[in-house]
Amino acid sequence: MHTSTGSTAMGTATVDLRAIAHNLRVLSDVAGAGVLAVVKADGYGHGALPVARTLVDAGAVGLGVAHITEALALREGGIDAPITSWLHAPDTDFEAGIAADVDIAVSSTRQLAAVVDAAGRRGETATLTVKVDTGMNRSGVARDEWSDFVDAFARARAAGAVRLRGVMAHLACGDEPANPVNDAQAAALTAAVADLRKTGAIAELVHLANSPAALTRPDLAFDAVRPGIAVYGLNPVPQHSDADLIPAMTLRTRVSLVKKVAAGEGVSYGHTFVAPVDTVVAVIPVGYADGVPRALSGRLRVRIDGRDFPGIGRICMDQFVVDLGPDGGGVGEGDEVTVFGTGIDGGPTAREWADLTDTIDYEIVTGIGPRIARRYLGGLP
Ligand SMILES: *Cc1c(COP(=O)(O)O)cnc(C)c1O
Repeated sequence: MHTSTGSTAMGTATVDLRAIAHNLRVLSDVAGAGVLAVVKADGYGHGALPVARTLVDAGAVGLGVAHITEALALREGGIDAPITSWLHAPDTDFEAGIAADVDIAVSSTRQLAAVVDAAGRRGETATLTVKVDTGMNRSGVARDEWSDFVDAFARARAAGAVRLRGVMAHLACGDEPANPVNDAQAAALTAAVADLRKTGAIAELVHLANSPAALTRPDLAFDAVRPGIAVYGLNPVPQHSDADLIPAMTLRTRVSLVKKVAAGEGVSYGHTFVAPVDTVVAVIPVGYADGVPRALSGRLRVRIDGRDFPGIGRICMDQFVVDLGPDGGGVGEGDEVTVFGTGIDGGPTAREWADLTDTIDYEIVTGIGPRIARRYLGGLP
């Protein structure tokens, strides 16, 4: 597919919303459950609002974000589907979240008290999810705090300050489907749901599974799965799942300059690349400030008109250089460059970048910077 970058930005991340909708259906089918789709961190760099609209239209049972401010931005954008928010600063004022009917996931008795306080000031009942620490030892109500928490929760509920929407926990080893930690965490979640039920509180939505578990452990799906990265078409467990996910983001730019470099000349900072023969190079006007990791210096490839060209020398803040070869490869200034994309045509992918730099593709897509324009296919952003 040939698309114009179509803006004055140097680079464009084209996000195919049809792929997002498709991936949601795939996840729901594979897990056999509803999907509470995670759109934190600006929809993993894809643009939270257009992605959220697409997901709600495609049947997501709800949306998940880390910060309440992310939930409020979605509300301001017209999203009225359930939104769960689960990471709060110690001084968070929960009033705005309650006013916007955000499902607030609490991780401690202190957070519960702050929500109860805010609900009291507003004279409203807060919608609550209980986030249980079942072994991740990150967020979630700590195990030694659990019975006190349940008592405080029961009092708050009896007083009409909170109503229970969900119970959630997060897997530490979801990307290892056979790891017994997954089963232990699921059992602990089931026990927590039962403890809350003993107080008369029945959760509408119990959820545990992140993307890797949604793809590999349908038995751990509870009422809904809670994937993020797979919604965007990136498979965190390709060795365990061949689910038909379609990467939604393609990062493109245009050749800004073509020039000759003589044999023996160095290219870019530090001259880490020295031309072995007379050659022609192209300047690609995106750099590490835009999310092209500097650690990819001399290791990445780009696609121009269906052909691969290697990056040479150091990646800079705003640009890097590729070798077009002695004949210039027929490439001219203004030609479209795919920096990474779906990989369907054998071109570079976010996964390839992650593998080359010893990280995960989550970090690649969330790292695409603010100078990169977002453009949407197949939806109403
Ligand atoms: C980010 C996050 C997810 C989504 O994880 P993926 O691996 O992207 O599927 C789910 N739940 C919680 C609590 C998270 O923080």
